[in-house]
Amino acid sequence: MKAYRKELHFRTKTRRAFVHITPQVEAALAESGIREGLCLVNAMHITASVFINDNESGLHRDFERWLEKLAPEKPHDQYDHNGYEDNADAHLKRSVMGREVVVAVTDGKLDFGTWERIFYGEFDGMRDKRVLVKIIGE
Ligand code: ZN
Repeated sequence: MKAYRKELHFRTKTRRAFVHITPQVEAALAESGIREGLCLVNAMHITASVFINDNESGLHRDFERWLEKLAPEKPHDQYDHNGYEDNADAHLKRSVMGREVVVAVTDGKLDFGTWERIFYGEFDGMRDKRVLVKIIGE
């Protein structure tokens, strides 16, 4: 069995952002040389997500509005977590959107459903963040 590890780096210009990362994961898979196995992609931070959904900008605006209704950023003092920090909403949004995805690798490709694409969800951005790609197989 082979194992491959890579970190992707992000620094978004805005506090919240969705970044399409399928091309970077596909590049990592190509570098790994693995043809059959599993590909894990996870956020390495507790205020960011990795998730799979449609690459459609209207849907991403819908996610943003929906998450702001569930866990509004402001007022900051509505959250017990916000003493020295102001990112309680980011922790909650990350929990809703998830930490990681696992995609099957078949014949050297990510074995997606038709509209599945991988996204990095940033909820407390404008700082350096990392995503782990771990691929195992042969
Ligand atoms: Zn925090």
